[in-house]
Amino acid sequence: MSRTEFGIVIRREAFKRAGKKCEAVGADYGLEPGARCNGDLSAGFDFDHIIADSIGGEATLENCACVCKRCHAIKTRTVDTPRAAKTKRQAERAGGPRKPSSFRKPAPGTRYEQGPFGLRAIKDDVR
Ligand SMILES: [Zn+2]
Repeated sequence: MSRTEFGIVIRREAFKRAGKKCEAVGADYGLEPGARCNGDLSAGFDFDHIIADSIGGEATLENCACVCKRCHAIKTRTVDTPRAAKTKRQAERAGGPRKPSSFRKPAPGTRYEQGPFGLRAIKDDVR
């Protein structure tokens, strides 16, 4: 899945909405449930996908939070990355693409000879 970044219009609107204060809210950012960080954004900020793009969160203004670096780092480390890994595992378990086996079945009629690492197939199509 490709990453969906916020466009310039959404980023501008989110920044305006934030009012120079961090928009992070709740436990995902290491805050009390329902509490807003309100940290000063002048020290640097990021645009966070509230629902991570890796699990289907869209690059919309509703899913965009203008957050301070600290909040973004906390959420990425404690929420987004583990959740993305879990989603990936679940998708794989549900019958997603499987890693092909490294064992290649020899063609019918293949003959073998003793090689340095055990039996090896004789390629008689090489003439
Ligand atoms: Zn913050």
